[in-house]
Amino acid sequence: MHDWHTALTSLQQYADIQSHDPHCRVGSALISPCGLIAHRDVNQFPRGIANDERWHDVDAKLDLVIHAEQAVLHGYLHDVSGWTMLITKCPCHHCAQAMIQRGISRVICPPYRVGSKWERSHRLAQEMFREAGVNYTELTQ
Ligand SMILES: [Zn+2]
Repeated sequence: MHDWHTALTSLQQYADIQSHDPHCRVGSALISPCGLIAHRDVNQFPRGIANDERWHDVDAKLDLVIHAEQAVLHGYLHDVSGWTMLITKCPCHHCAQAMIQRGISRVICPPYRVGSKWERSHRLAQEMFREAGVNYTELTQ
């Protein structure tokens, strides 16, 4: 049985080092059915796009950034049906679509921040997880 709080803390430390986002450093990890972290990644600009001042321009950043969950799924092209995704932030609905489509069966993350501009997207993600039969677990501190 995993200590998910420790795993989440470790993943956040990885994101704090690897992500260029000055405000929101997100990490995501793919965990195989036997509990091994097979791949992890962070929110990032696509390959070939410079890590420049656009990270500090919210509109430019949102247009360019690949969320950590999608970065992980793009970077690991083996079958992940039945696998777990650990994320340091509650996922948006676009990432939920991608995870469901790839067959992720369990999502573990902290709860979203109530009143956040992403709240509608988080709720939609959770509705999709429920309807698609994805086990969604929020880790509280
Ligand atoms: Zn997302």
